[in-house]
Amino acid sequence: MNRQQEYVLSTVEDRDVKFIRLWFTDVLGQLKSVAIVPAELEGAFREGIGFDGSSVEGFSRIFEADMVLRPDPATFALLPWRGDTEPTARMFCDIYDPDGTPSASDPRNVLKRQMKIASDRGFTFYVHPEIEFYLFKSGHLGGQPPVPVDTAGYFDHVDGGTAHNFRRSAVQMLESMGISVEFSHHEAGPGQNEIDLRYADGLTMADNVMTFRTVIREVALEQGVFASFMPKPLIDEPGNGMHTHVSLFEGDENAFYEPGAEYQLSQTGRQFVAGLLEHTPEISAVTNQYVNSYKRLWTGHEAPSYICWGHRNRSALVRIPQYKSGKASSARVEYRGIDSSANPYLTYSLMLAAGLKGIEEGYELPDEAEDNVWLLSDHERRALGISAMPVSLNDAVAKMENSELVAETLGEAVFEFVLRNKMQEWVDYRDQVTPHEYRRHFNTI
Ligand code: GLU
Ligand code: MG
Ligand code: MG
Repeated sequence: MNRQQEYVLSTVEDRDVKFIRLWFTDVLGQLKSVAIVPAELEGAFREGIGFDGSSVEGFSRIFEADMVLRPDPATFALLPWRGDTEPTARMFCDIYDPDGTPSASDPRNVLKRQMKIASDRGFTFYVHPEIEFYLFKSGHLGGQPPVPVDTAGYFDHVDGGTAHNFRRSAVQMLESMGISVEFSHHEAGPGQNEIDLRYADGLTMADNVMTFRTVIREVALEQGVFASFMPKPLIDEPGNGMHTHVSLFEGDENAFYEPGAEYQLSQTGRQFVAGLLEHTPEISAVTNQYVNSYKRLWTGHEAPSYICWGHRNRSALVRIPQYKSGKASSARVEYRGIDSSANPYLTYSLMLAAGLKGIEEGYELPDEAEDNVWLLSDHERRALGISAMPVSLNDAVAKMENSELVAETLGEAVFEFVLRNKMQEWVDYRDQVTPHEYRRHFNTI
C-alpha cells in the first residue's frame, strides 16, 4: 500500500464512506461506474477489480473480455450530491489486461502515454476548457424540438432564473470536489450556459471534464431540468463548443511565452499552433465525433468552419487571446474546434500529438487571418491558403483513415474502433429519409 492509498483508506473510515464508485471512460467518452463497499477497497488497490470488457464500447473483443480496473488514489473525492447520510466517493481507474499490461483500449491510458511522450521532451501540457451546455425543460421530446429553460442571451443576468441557481449549485459542487472554476455565465443561446475550469495538466483536466458532465447532470436532475452537451441541439441557435486553452510548460517556464515576440507567442508556441492547424482535418472525427457535430461547425454562431488563426478574430479555429502582458504563465492559445460531446482523453491526446509534431518538424505558422473568414468567397479563402474543416462526419472519417498521426497516437485498437464506429454512425444517418426531404421533395418531384 502506498501513501496515497493509505490516505484513501483512512479517509473512507474517518468519513464513514459507504460506497466507493470506480469510474472509467469508454472510447466514445461515456462514463462507466461500478460501486464497491469499503471492505473491498484494499483488494481493489492490491489486485484491481475484474470486469467484462466486451460489454463496454470499444474495449475488447468477446474472446479477450477479462479486464482489470485499478483505482487511482490521487483522484479520490466525495460525491457532494450524495450528501452525508450515505457518503459515497469516487476514484478514476486505469484499465489493465489480465496479464498486467495497461489496456490498449483505455482512453486514459492513451492520454497518459501521450503526456509521457511530451514529458520525455521536457514538456507538461496544460489545458483549460470553456464548456458550453444547454438547459432544457425536459429530456422527453415526443417528436418536438427541446424547449430551453429561458430566453436569455450572452452574459445576461436572469433574476431568480433557473440558470443562475443552476450555475451556483454546479460551481459549489465542482469546487467541493477540488475542481476550480474560473468563470461561469449565460451563453448566447436560450438556456445555454458556459462554465470555464481553471487550468490543470491534461490528465487531471480530462478527469475533471468527465466529473463536470456528471455534476451538471446531477444538478439538472435535482432542479427538475435537463442538461444537454449535444453539439447542436437547436438548429437556429449556437451549438455547444468546448473551446480549449492550451500551453506547454518546461519546468516552471511557459514555453509559449516570449517577451517582445508577436503576441508574446514564442517560436515553440507558433510551431505548436501550426501543428494544430495542419492536423485538424484528420483529428476531427474525434474532436467533433458525431454526425450532429458538423451542424455546429457549419451554421455560424462563432463556431469555426475554416482552418486559420487570429488574435481577435472569433471566427478563427485558433485564437491567441489577449492576456495581461508580462504575465508569462498566462501565455496560451485557444483551440475552438472541439465540441462539448468529445472524449476529453482522446481529444487532448490528439491535440498534444498535433502540436508536438509541429514543434518536432519545425512547421511554419501561416499568416494570421484578421478578416472575418466567413465573409470571404471560397476563391478568396483559397488565395489566402485557408482550407475548410471537414463538412461531415463522413468527410472527417475519410481524413482520419489515412492519418499516421492519429493511428500512432490512439494505438491500433482505439484507432480501428473509432473508424468502425464512426463509419457505422454515418451509414445509420445516411440511411434515413428526413422531414427535410419530405418538405423539399414529396410534393414537387
Ligand atoms: N457556441 C460557440 C461554439 O460553438 C462559441 C461561442 C463563444 O465564442 O464562446 O463554438
Ligand atoms: Mg462560449
Ligand atoms: Mg472561447
